[in-house]
Amino acid sequence: MTHSTSSANPTSYAQANAYTPLNFPELASAITHINEEHYDELLGFLTAFTSLSSEDMDEASVQLVDIYAEAIALQIQYKGTKKTSAQAHNPTFFIAFTAPITQFSDLNTQYILLKQQADKKLGKKTIKLTKQTFLVQDSYKVSPNMLRLELTGSTLDVSNKNSVPVDEAGYAYLFDLAHNASASQNVGDKASPTRAHCYYTLRKAWQTSDGVRAWVDVFLHGDTPGGHWASSLQIGDTVMSKREFPEKTAHLQDGQALLIADETSMPTVARLLELWDNPIPPLVLCVTQELADQAYFDAVKIGTDKKNGDKTRQSTECQTDNNFMLLPLVAGKIHSGKELAVLIDQTLANYLTNHPLQIEKVWGALEAGTAKALRGLIQQRLGLERSDSVIKVYWRKD
Ligand SMILES: Cc1cc2nc3c(=O)[nH]c(=O)nc-3n(C[C@H](O)[C@H](O)[C@H](O)COP(=O)(O)OP(=O)(O)OC[C@H]3O[C@@H](n4cnc5c(N)ncnc54)[C@H](O)[C@@H]3O)c2cc1C
Repeated sequence: MTHSTSSANPTSYAQANAYTPLNFPELASAITHINEEHYDELLGFLTAFTSLSSEDMDEASVQLVDIYAEAIALQIQYKGTKKTSAQAHNPTFFIAFTAPITQFSDLNTQYILLKQQADKKLGKKTIKLTKQTFLVQDSYKVSPNMLRLELTGSTLDVSNKNSVPVDEAGYAYLFDLAHNASASQNVGDKASPTRAHCYYTLRKAWQTSDGVRAWVDVFLHGDTPGGHWASSLQIGDTVMSKREFPEKTAHLQDGQALLIADETSMPTVARLLELWDNPIPPLVLCVTQELADQAYFDAVKIGTDKKNGDKTRQSTECQTDNNFMLLPLVAGKIHSGKELAVLIDQTLANYLTNHPLQIEKVWGALEAGTAKALRGLIQQRLGLERSDSVIKVYWRKD
């Protein structure tokens, strides 16, 4: 069972000694990655497994400082001027794994188990390690480089409507590319898959008389394992997912939002728009390498599938024909890294000069280097609370 111990004084040294240090060469970069990409999960661990409340952490920053075989060590640094004497020591909390880590690959499993336990305690939706099999019904292009897979759930219990979420934006599946490896290899002229899995978002799912039907939109950016997998699929093939997790979008319920999409996160933003239930329409900054791929949003209307309330409300409140502001950015060869982040920030700055909007919430997903740089730039430009700005990593440039 998960337990935590806190050390609000020099006993932190003694407590760290109670755990087994790990010497995996990948550990330092895993710690950096978790601090950069999973910060809110660290806050969740502290809220779920310690007596700290979210108010206790209001003026604090949390850092994963080490990972031991039996536990992770989280340190809190209080920024406020009115620190108590316990806070002055930057307390360290140890959150125990369900089972000790013996090899590096165990870390992923143990971390996911911690996350599942924490989310359950906090009443939040969580990552699932379930396998699902889908049947390919069709596949076709919806913009020059975006391939839509139309799927049905072949092994789904259709009486359980939760097995494919029809009203969640950004719900992602980890597809098992190896499941279709032999079919792909029959195509012959392309490289065999070099990666085993790939995340793709549930673009949209809906209930039909004979079960759930779903779209998954795969952006084709050359001869890559994920793109090759998707374009090799034939009607009647099965595809398998091994893991699924919900996206963090709850903060978009109110306030003026900015959504930032690249080719890989356009499906998430499109679904966010269809399910939009915030009276203020968002500004959508869409960055693509090619102008033609901006057409992806032509068929998307705001609020068409929103869960509650009056679906006609948006027609009086929104300000453009399409009912949301689309700010296209065609970036050409600049598709990743800090350079793209600067371009996005400048595009936003220019827009805000002519259209003075007070942006209160941000969601975006981009390449790792872009996301990292953009978080800082957006923070400088908009000065938002960390919880009001979610900029995710959807892919990594080699
Ligand atoms: C939660 C989540 C949801 C996602 N949803 C979707 C989705 O719905 N649709 C979708 O298309 N993608 C989505 N992605 C992104 C997708 O998983 C990645 O783009 C993945 O890396 C693609 O794998 P690949 O085999 O095509 O390329 P990789 O094996 O990752 O890369 C091969 C080469 O292509 C380059 N490359 C990779 N991606 C791009 C790109 N976008 N543009 C230019 N060069 C690139 C890399 O630098 C590398 O050189 C999602 C990712 C996450 C984490």
